Formats: sequence, structure tokens, C-alpha cells
Amino acid sequence: MSSATTSSAAQGYPPSEEFAAQANAGAQLYDRADADRLAFWAEQARRLDWATDFDQVLDWSDAPFAKWFVGGKLNVAYNCVDRHVAAGKGDRVAIHWVGEPGDSRDLTYAQLQDEVSKAANYFTAIGLVAGDRVAIYMPMVPEALISMLACARLGLTHSVVFAGFSAGALRSRVDDAEAKLVITTDGQYRRGKPAPLKAAVDEALGTGADAAASVEKVLVVRRTNHDENLPWVDGRDVWWEDTVAEQSPHHEPEAFDAEHPLFLLYTSGTTGKPKGIVHSSGGYLTQASYTFHYVFDHKEGRDVFWCGADIGWVTGHSYLVYGPLSNGATEVVYEGTPNSPNEHRHFEIIERYGVTVYYIAPTLIRTFMKWGREIPDAHDLSSVRLLGSVGEPINPEAWKWYREVIGGNKAPIVDTWWQTETGAIMISPLPGVTVTKPGSAMAPLPGISANIVDDHGNPVGAGEQGYLVLDKPWPSMLRGIWGDDERYRETYWSRFAEQGWYFAGDGARYDDDHALWVLGRVDDVMNVSGHRISTAEVESALVGHAGVAEAAVIGAADETTGQGIVAFVILREGVIDTGEGLIAELREQVSVEISPIAKPREINVVPELPKTRSGKIMRRLLKDVAEGRELGDTSTLVDPSVFEAIRQRKA
Ligand code: ATP
Ligand code: MG
Repeated sequence: MSSATTSSAAQGYPPSEEFAAQANAGAQLYDRADADRLAFWAEQARRLDWATDFDQVLDWSDAPFAKWFVGGKLNVAYNCVDRHVAAGKGDRVAIHWVGEPGDSRDLTYAQLQDEVSKAANYFTAIGLVAGDRVAIYMPMVPEALISMLACARLGLTHSVVFAGFSAGALRSRVDDAEAKLVITTDGQYRRGKPAPLKAAVDEALGTGADAAASVEKVLVVRRTNHDENLPWVDGRDVWWEDTVAEQSPHHEPEAFDAEHPLFLLYTSGTTGKPKGIVHSSGGYLTQASYTFHYVFDHKEGRDVFWCGADIGWVTGHSYLVYGPLSNGATEVVYEGTPNSPNEHRHFEIIERYGVTVYYIAPTLIRTFMKWGREIPDAHDLSSVRLLGSVGEPINPEAWKWYREVIGGNKAPIVDTWWQTETGAIMISPLPGVTVTKPGSAMAPLPGISANIVDDHGNPVGAGEQGYLVLDKPWPSMLRGIWGDDERYRETYWSRFAEQGWYFAGDGARYDDDHALWVLGRVDDVMNVSGHRISTAEVESALVGHAGVAEAAVIGAADETTGQGIVAFVILREGVIDTGEGLIAELREQVSVEISPIAKPREINVVPELPKTRSGKIMRRLLKDVAEGRELGDTSTLVDPSVFEAIRQRKA
């Protein structure tokens, strides 16, 4: 593939000597993994406690269905909770929880062990057995994490459904997984106000002939207490406080096979019908735990980690639950939105708990930029020593702002590339080792093998765009799509079937220094008069303009050029839309930064962009707007009403 883009090797940021001297990772980690990949993974697996040791690291004989740590048995919840208590760390805070209305609660590892045990005892009491599925449809309350861990403890496979999703989205996931139990709350806070949630469960599960056949119980945590007459189905619905809370805090965990399915998670559906991604126990926990230790340079007993993701997203699974807790970390869990009650919320929390490692999505960084730096500047953020980014390519402008304003001009940034399907971080700098470049995820982690190839599977040269493939299996890889082996092969393994590579769906390129740049989905690569242009790069150029806070770019069908570039931009706070003058400036900006070919045909200034729960822009829906079609599936959008405003403002 040829590339119309020119942006390349930017100036690098080497780690400070001070950071490097104390870092968990050293350059030799790559050498050790290269020397013997499977031995390296076995060593990482042994960071966990196994009830029965494994006798084979990888069985790939039935590819693409992998088995890792064959013969090994472990209990995931024991590894995340009990073993820290057994090691005398029961008094350490596991979770500093902050509610949206400002209430808070600390849970030590010993308390977490009690709470998880009680929930496990209740789940057993209602007849659930290992292998059953449980749907968790909850805001970010401690009971959500407790429920996940209680499922893990019993070998129940959990399926967390984002609490911002509609009843319809919940129903399709409950049915697909045939969940027996649904755990929810009476309501959830949304920008300071209680909103019903249990009502959506009732709507989803239906009654009579339409009732969800698999569901036996609905367990309800009291959160908002907003409705005295909460609709109730006798026999099906129970309060957490009347059931779980009454159980014994003692529970003996049982060990499960390394391959036992720990959870299902439906992908966000940026590209189509959600898929139930299946994750394992041993391999998944090994990589979640390993990456947390090295990528976030975690120091037990000293760091305070904060991942801003929701548990409804894979980042919330791996870096709010399994990664940090398996490492005995102390972490912040925040229930609400970043601007509730006002834009200071995140920075107040960082200050209050002395957060040292902070991990969020680029969309939030750009939102902070839009609000203005005087907000973070009003707080003491000096505890922050490491920053992480995930979810989308981070544009260099946002990267630099993040480092300077939040990271005190010294905190290294780890730009982590991975997917629901990969289970844990795959491509990222190692803090203290890697010389980073703003906007680049840099290199596959030790033990991970990736490549960038052309249509025929040949490696592309420096500067050329290609397909990002994972050419060797990894421990936390998905084990399939729930109930659909064919779709699993077809979706991930058919593009490079001959070579047996996993194709991730993303495009990427190496620069002259062999730094890896993820360019976003290949479906999002535009073809303008035969030139392949990445949406991410045009967006990055637009956001490079001082007036622009966020940008989304799509290729719309165009009679003369094949595709024409259409952009949607949000302006920063206080910037005045000067109409044609601004548009001309923005087009010029893209022309200079990338190429005249990449100049958008049309630029629309809009108040909001359509996003998924994990903060990703739904480009396919913008494409529907640009091409004048009916909107496709909007069920995973946070706020479908944004389209009214977009339509009004569209040129
Ligand atoms: P769906 O697969 O249903 O369309 P999705 O791909 O948005 O949804 P996720 O698994 O949450 O669901 O997101 C993974 C994708 O996010 C990656 O394939 C990539 O496109 C993007 N991504 C994640 N992290 C990064 C990163 N650090 N840099 C660039 N892109 C990233
Ligand atoms: Mg995806």
C-alpha cells in the first residue's frame, strides 16, 4: 500500500535516569522473551498461585483454538484477593471507591475477601454451579467488582453489560449467553441525578411468553433509593442487602482448569453486531497481571493506581479488576462522569488519594484540553509519576498536553494498544526503557509478536501502511466467540489463513526508527483518488489546530474521487466559529501537515460527536449521515440524540 501521509519520526522522549533506575522493566526483558518465548510466559504465569502446576505452556495443535498452561489449575479470585490476605496484607486498601454524589468507601483486601465470599456463598445457595453464566448490569459500585470476583471464585462465567446500554442491548446479551442470574442496582447516578436502572432490567427480561427464558434470579443492590415502589417480580427479584449481606464471610475457593471460561465480553460494536468474546482463566490472568506489573511499573504498597474506564469495557476488566488486584495494588474506582459535580472532579480525586499512575482514553484527554488547563493547574498533581492512554490512537498534540499538564513534564506516557479480543495490553512502551514518541505505541511487549504486512502477507517497508497482524498466539488471547466457532475463524483468522495469523482489523506502519504507529481500523482508511489516507492522521492534523478540541473524519462516497473526506469538529471552549475563515484555516492545516490530497471536502462544526461507552467515535454512523442514509444500529451509543444536533449543523 502506498501512503499519502508524510508525518514521521518525531522527536523522542527518553526515560529519565531516575525513572529508569527504579523501573520494574529493563531492556533485558525483551532478550529473555526472545531467547525462549514459552519459557518466558511460563515464568510470568508463575507470578500467580497455582493449585496444580501446568505441564505444558502452549497447546496450539487445534489452532486457532489455543490452550495455555495445560493441566494447570487455579482460582482467579484467590489470586486477586485471598493470597494477599494470606501474605499478611489484609489491611492494605484494595479499593478507594468514590461515588458520583461524593460519597466514598475504602475496602481493604481483608474486607474484599469477606464481601466476595458472601456473594459466592449466596450464588451457591441459589444453585449456580461452575460454567453457568451471570449478567452484571451495574454502575461502578463496589458490588460490581465484588460480583465479578465472586463469579470468578465459583467458576461462573460473567458477562458485564455496560449500564448505559439500553434494555434491548441487555436482552440480546442475556439471551446469547443464557444467563441464569442478572445483577443490577435500583438506579444509577447520571450527572448528579438518580436515574432508574432496574426498570431497564424489567423491560429487558419481559414477562409471560416474552420472558427471557434463562433468567432465574435478579439480584438488586440498593444504590440510589430513588423509588419507594420499585417494580418487583416476586420469586425472581431479591435485594442484595437481604440475601448476600446475610451470608457467611467464609468460603473455600476451588481451583479451576486454566482454560475455564472466566468471562464473556461483547465488543463495543463500533463495526457491527456485538460478538461475545470468550476469555480464559490462567492465560488471561497471567497476561493481565504481567502487563500491569511492567507497563504500569507497579510498586506494591506504594502506588495508587487509577484506571478511568468503566467495568463494561475490557479495560475495566483487565485494569480495574484482574490486573491490579492480582498484583495486590491499591486503586481508585470512580463511579461517575468527569464533570460531575464539575470539571475538577478527576483532579480532586488524584490529589485526595495521591494517585501515582493514571490511565485514561485520549477522548478524555481532549475533553480536558477543551475545558482548559487552568482546571488541572488548580490542583497538586505532583503524585503522578506515570500516565497511560488506551482506546484510540492518541494524537501528538494531546500526548504532549497530557505529559506536560497532568504529568508535570516528566511522567512517562504508555500508549497501550490492545483489544477486547487480546484481553490485555499487547503493544506499548515499557516505562524506564523505551524512548517514546508522541502518538506511537512503539513496540510489541516482551513475549508478544506482531508484524505489519501487505495484502499478500509480506512485511511492508518503513513509512508504508499495512495490516497489523499478531503472528504468534499469546496467553490472554480470546478463546473464541461464544457459541460461534465459525464466526471466530472467519472474523479473525481468515484474512491470513494460510499463514495462520490473527488479523486485528487495524492498520499500522513503522517509521524509520521502527517505532510502530497504529492508524486505526483498516475499514476507516479512506481511498481518495487512489491515495490511502488514514482517518486518524487527518483527525490528528485537525486537532493540531489551536481551536479544535476533537475531530472525526470519514470517507464518504464521491463520484469523482471515489471517496471524499468529510470532517466533523468540536471547537475548544471559548473559540468562536468564524465560519468560512475557520474552515479555510483547518483545510490548510491538513494540507500542510499531511498533504493537499488529504484536505477535507467538507468540514462541519458540531457540538458533540457520537461515541460508544468506551469513548470511541462511531464513524460508521457519521458516514451514514454524510451519505444521507438512515442511521445503522445505534444501540451501543452513549447518547443517540447527538445526531439531531449534527444533522442541524451539517453543511
Ligand atoms: P468492535 O470490535 O465491536 O468494532 P472496538 O474495536 O471499538 O469494537 P475494543 O476492543 O474496545 O472495541 O477496541 C479495540 C480497538 O481500539 C483496537 O482495534 C484499535 O482500533 C483501538 N485502539 C485501542 N487502543 C489503541 C491505541 N493505543 N492506539 C490506537 N488504537 C487503539
Ligand atoms: Mg474491534
